[in-house]
Amino acid sequence: MKKKYIYFFGNNKADGNARMKDLLGGKGANLAEMANLGFPVPPGFTITTEACDEYNRQNKKFPTGLQSEIDKNLTRLEREMGAKLGDPNNPLLVSVRSGAAASMPGMMDTVLNLGLNPDSIQGLINKTNNERFPRDAYRRFINMFGNVVMGMKHHDFEEIIARHKKKAKVENDTDLNAEQLKNICKDFIAIYKKRTGSDFPLDPKEQLRKAIIAVFDSWNNPRAVKYRKIYDISGLLGTAVNIQAMVFGNTGNNSATGVCFTRNPSNGENKFYGEFLLNAQGEDVVAGIRTPEPISDLAKELPIAYKKLVNIKNKLEKHYKDLQDIEFTIQEGKLFMLQTRNGKRTTQAAVKIAVDMVKEKLIDKKTAINRIEPNQLDQLLHPTFNPKAKRNVIASGLPASPGAASGKVTFHADEAEKLAAKNEKIILVRIETSPEDIGGMHVAQGILTTKGGMTSHAAVVARGMGTCCVAGCGGIQVDYEKEEFTVGEKTIKKGDYISLDGTRGEVILGQVPTVEPTLCGDFGKLMKWTDEFRRLKVRTNADTPEDAQRARDFGAEGIGLCRTEHMFFGEDRIDYVRQMILTAGNVTKLKISVNEAKAELNKAPKKKLSSLNNKKNNIQSKLKESQRLYKGALNKLLPMQRSDFTKIFKVMNGFPVTIRLLDPPLHEFLPNEKHLQIELAKKMGMNPKEVKDRVDSLHETNPMLGLRGCRLGITYPDIYEMQVKAIIQAACAVKKQNIKVFPEIMVPLVGTDEEMKVLKNDIKIIAEKVLTEKGAKINYKIGTMIEIPRAALTADRIAKYAEFFSFGTNDLTQMTFGYSRDDVGSFVPQYTERGLLEKDPFQVLDQDGVGQLVTTGIKKGRQTKPDLKIGICGEHGGEPSSIQFCNRNGMDYVSCSPFRVPIARLSSAQSAIKEKQ
Ligand code: PEP
Ligand code: MG
Repeated sequence: MKKKYIYFFGNNKADGNARMKDLLGGKGANLAEMANLGFPVPPGFTITTEACDEYNRQNKKFPTGLQSEIDKNLTRLEREMGAKLGDPNNPLLVSVRSGAAASMPGMMDTVLNLGLNPDSIQGLINKTNNERFPRDAYRRFINMFGNVVMGMKHHDFEEIIARHKKKAKVENDTDLNAEQLKNICKDFIAIYKKRTGSDFPLDPKEQLRKAIIAVFDSWNNPRAVKYRKIYDISGLLGTAVNIQAMVFGNTGNNSATGVCFTRNPSNGENKFYGEFLLNAQGEDVVAGIRTPEPISDLAKELPIAYKKLVNIKNKLEKHYKDLQDIEFTIQEGKLFMLQTRNGKRTTQAAVKIAVDMVKEKLIDKKTAINRIEPNQLDQLLHPTFNPKAKRNVIASGLPASPGAASGKVTFHADEAEKLAAKNEKIILVRIETSPEDIGGMHVAQGILTTKGGMTSHAAVVARGMGTCCVAGCGGIQVDYEKEEFTVGEKTIKKGDYISLDGTRGEVILGQVPTVEPTLCGDFGKLMKWTDEFRRLKVRTNADTPEDAQRARDFGAEGIGLCRTEHMFFGEDRIDYVRQMILTAGNVTKLKISVNEAKAELNKAPKKKLSSLNNKKNNIQSKLKESQRLYKGALNKLLPMQRSDFTKIFKVMNGFPVTIRLLDPPLHEFLPNEKHLQIELAKKMGMNPKEVKDRVDSLHETNPMLGLRGCRLGITYPDIYEMQVKAIIQAACAVKKQNIKVFPEIMVPLVGTDEEMKVLKNDIKIIAEKVLTEKGAKINYKIGTMIEIPRAALTADRIAKYAEFFSFGTNDLTQMTFGYSRDDVGSFVPQYTERGLLEKDPFQVLDQDGVGQLVTTGIKKGRQTKPDLKIGICGEHGGEPSSIQFCNRNGMDYVSCSPFRVPIARLSSAQSAIKEKQ
């Protein structure tokens, strides 16, 4: 069957309707709908997005049949209007506007007043007895046509107008008279010819064809392409083109044009909101050439038209059951509707409008929940820059942790702490961060790194803290020695002010004022509604009682990941941690030496016995001393860990708390710089060389693939023993206070069932011993992270020894792709830019690859234990599309940083609603 490329809309009826957005674009579909509803829409027709798609696919050629459909529909339009395009006696003028299925405000092109030439101008003058208006329309037409169709700069035209206004000694465009406008048109035509090398087209049919082509082409203009990328708009065919009879808001003071919203799109207030200009055309409002009046003043200026507008906007909102963004024109007192669409709004407004509309019984709770884009909620949870403030952006990186921050540049974490103690506001600037920097990161207003991706240390920690962070900002060169960074020609020194926009990933010179977030009651209400629909539980990744409390406030139902290593960096304990690491190495080394000495002794001739015995005793006493120090350090750490866990259990008050045993490679806890090693040796009463040797011995080529996770627990069992004791003792203490407690002990980085078997056995023995000592009963679980591909593939065997699984998708992504999670900043942005990767897989779960391992892990795990509790604690646990994946695949919970808890609640609810539908 022959394809239909054009849909007509006329008085009270249209070929299309609002459900045909994909084909007619939002604007075309809604114009058709308004015509069907009987609202005053100037007649016209819409060329489909399919036509645009075919035009682009056929190397910019009109698809067969399109031109004849245009001609036919134009004739129909002319009949309906009783005027003809280009008719010198009774000319029809049309607008040509773009409109894709997804609204992309201002991204594509529009041409108004098409059909004007000297003959039709004369015709209009004769018909309306108004010489100024057609000449005003003509100069606008030449300008728009030159700009949109021929790619001329607006500047060329603006210069001419400015010159004429100066000559005429007038300030506003509206003060120019017909004669002056006529002269402007003459100059416009001349500059058109100069810039384009061709005459301005006088044949209206040629004008129309060229304008349609320009609109088709605008689908792929750089700003439209960028907009679609930013807003993740994909899978659309192209733009539709709307050709519509012109109505004029610029025929005098009983005409006007305006843009309005059925409610306030900024704060959601249910109050008619908008602006208008008397004697103007649409683009004047948008371009800000004149300052428009508030819509309420239209009631005084043109009361009949205003009343009608209010009536129609009320009906439109009821009909669409959503905030409408409306464009209208009033010609000689008569109102015409030019557009309606669901209006863009701030998150605050989105939440208020959704909740209000449920109250007004316009929509149900499910619809309200689906109206909010989960990631948008971030805006409600962090301070933001005042949108009115000026920004001098000097560099851009990854928007690693949202929010806004200003402060003095500092390059060292310890200095940041000192300055923060003096109430200074700090931006910590690092090439990359390490756990050593945690204190400085904690006190900083914002963190800027030049290396690292969205799951780099800086990014993960900053998100957990809710601290704004821009990561992987490659355009910046940091010089720690000079304590400055350079970006292009600019040098920013320690103490200079910069600002970070963690939502956009921008680095801004100087201080930008912020506004505090206000969590209004509607937000809480909406969040409660999500709980009625979701199946997934939402937990949090939190390592401190403060973070745990914040997450509870946001509705977290437990902790899915408590990374114990972050507790090791507290000022009161880092020395003991270091003592533990340094002596643990000695203990292992000396144990070997003792065995060697014993063996030597056994084989030795009599005369050497005494000296070898002395040697053995000597090593044994060194071993004893190291063991004493090692145990001493662990004994110091135990009560500290116990107190950490006690506080967290209390905050979680009966919700499950998953505590992960120590995971990172030990070198992360020791200083790398020489002077710090000397200082540490002094503190530990050791020889600096010993410290250096230990640091060197811990050095690994690929530390992420080395001695970390459960491998640590197997190599240094006393560390896990101390942690398990602390967990169970804390649980007993909390239970004694009649607080329910459900600890879940989690083993990291398991790759084989044998590892899990050994560790589960060890953990159980320790835990049971504590419980026997205390005479207590605690409902605890022992489980593992699934973060190594092999673990996912052998999950059926691992599940024999695990009571729960938590997918660590950060490491799982790292190991599945073979991308270092701390170094992706150097290539992933280019990959996504060039389309080699659709998304950064550390931000959005790669469902095709990593996802397969997750589904396999779930399936195999539940083959062994059908009711195995399964969750996710990688960064993806707070990302909407990944949460949907977790929901679909039957996980029990997701766990994410405290600030993402509301996002996860909303996403889970949306996913559950979708699944039911
Ligand atoms: C993970 O790997 O997904 C995880 C949660 O652990 P971490 O980020 O601490 O390695
Ligand atoms: Mg991990």
